[in-house]
Amino acid sequence: MTTLIRSGTVVTAERTFAADVLIEGEKIRDIAAGIPVERADRVIDASNLLVMPGGIDVHTHLDMPFGGTVSADDFETGTRAAAFGGTTTLIDFAIQARGMKMREALDIWWKKAENRATIDYGLHLIVTDLYEAGLEDMDAMVAEGVASFKLFMAYPGVLMVDDATIFKALSQTAKNGALICMHAENGGVIDVMVQRALAEGKKAPIYHAMTRPATAEAEAVHRAIAMAEIAGAPVYIVHLSSEDALNQVREARDRGVPAFAETCPQYLLLSVEELARPDFEGAKYVFTPPLREKHHLPKLWNGLKHDHLQVVSTDHCPFCFADQKTLGRDDFTKIPNGGPGVENRLQLIYHHGVNQGRLSLNRFVELVSTTPAKLFGLYPRKGELAAGSDADIVLWDPDEAHLISAATHHMRVDYSMFEGFSVKGNARTVLSRGEIIVDKGAFFGSAGRGRFLKRAARGGAWK
Ligand SMILES: [Zn+2]
Repeated sequence: MTTLIRSGTVVTAERTFAADVLIEGEKIRDIAAGIPVERADRVIDASNLLVMPGGIDVHTHLDMPFGGTVSADDFETGTRAAAFGGTTTLIDFAIQARGMKMREALDIWWKKAENRATIDYGLHLIVTDLYEAGLEDMDAMVAEGVASFKLFMAYPGVLMVDDATIFKALSQTAKNGALICMHAENGGVIDVMVQRALAEGKKAPIYHAMTRPATAEAEAVHRAIAMAEIAGAPVYIVHLSSEDALNQVREARDRGVPAFAETCPQYLLLSVEELARPDFEGAKYVFTPPLREKHHLPKLWNGLKHDHLQVVSTDHCPFCFADQKTLGRDDFTKIPNGGPGVENRLQLIYHHGVNQGRLSLNRFVELVSTTPAKLFGLYPRKGELAAGSDADIVLWDPDEAHLISAATHHMRVDYSMFEGFSVKGNARTVLSRGEIIVDKGAFFGSAGRGRFLKRAARGGAWK
């Protein structure tokens, strides 16, 4: 089966140009002006559309247990929602519970994903326990294509690991070429502040934010980068939320340290006031790190523009308001942490970035697709439009107006963090390995067609 995408404007991280794209089977065969239609079995007219590599969201939590409940999207509903929004690859997190072998965690997440995923996916491994053979087992994970690990500096007693463990893991990646992703918040300080708040009867959602100050994030970012520097390894800060933390990353990068960071649409577009919404609705915005004061937002946009931040992911971790968020009605510490977003990432960053003049079109593609592919060992198979790359392609209509709402979204959750946001620019047709999976609001993919991606070690963070 050959498909010709005709008369579109091709946009990559590097350039924008008029060209046709010829797809043969699952791969891009050729990109050039005036490819004859006779060469294709099927022709898609892309006049007035942008032809971009499919989005890559490197931070999602599908079917994830948390605080006695499970995130509301599984690998089928979550990947389908992602596809509607123009994302064709996810990297989710397998969690090694304490006392569990890494291999076992990977098997559990493979089972969650297989027969369900509608787009291709990779897995990071969250390490909570570096047991006797843990360092060698990290090498074994890398050999399986799990070329990145996440460590937590927060959530003591559950996910947090100490500095010695972090340093050992970083040192191991200096040998095996994996990338450490760090949840950087000072968990000890936060825990004390949380206990104090509860003792004072401060139990509403807003205290989730009040007990996790930006300084606690900046301190941990600084420490994470320092440990990576000593270990001689790169480090990737997940969901960076504040100017304070951004300054730490920028300072390190200015010195030539291979520190990288992502932020998410919620930190670019929402602020802490959301947590003070009446009728417990603030719980819809409870996730970590918390939303910050408004003055942080333009600093983060500026960070994206100037490459102090390299990636926009979502940290998609949906919990329904009705029967999950309400678990914490009387105590903010019992609110499941997370928010939905996998479907809206491209719409929001395109509209508020490109349309508002904050980002170039090419920088947009770089942030949502190309750099994620490079850093996480998927490039040039993913994140690029070139002969030989997977035909994961979004035909983007820059003029389509869209109103974001829980009433119409495809995520399996009963609210939207961006309810009522109107954006211009939306995915019209989405191809995954040459197959049309979304077209004009209809889904043509199927559960289980998505494949596990073995990712290469020593990706872009190492160059
Ligand atoms: Zn996360």
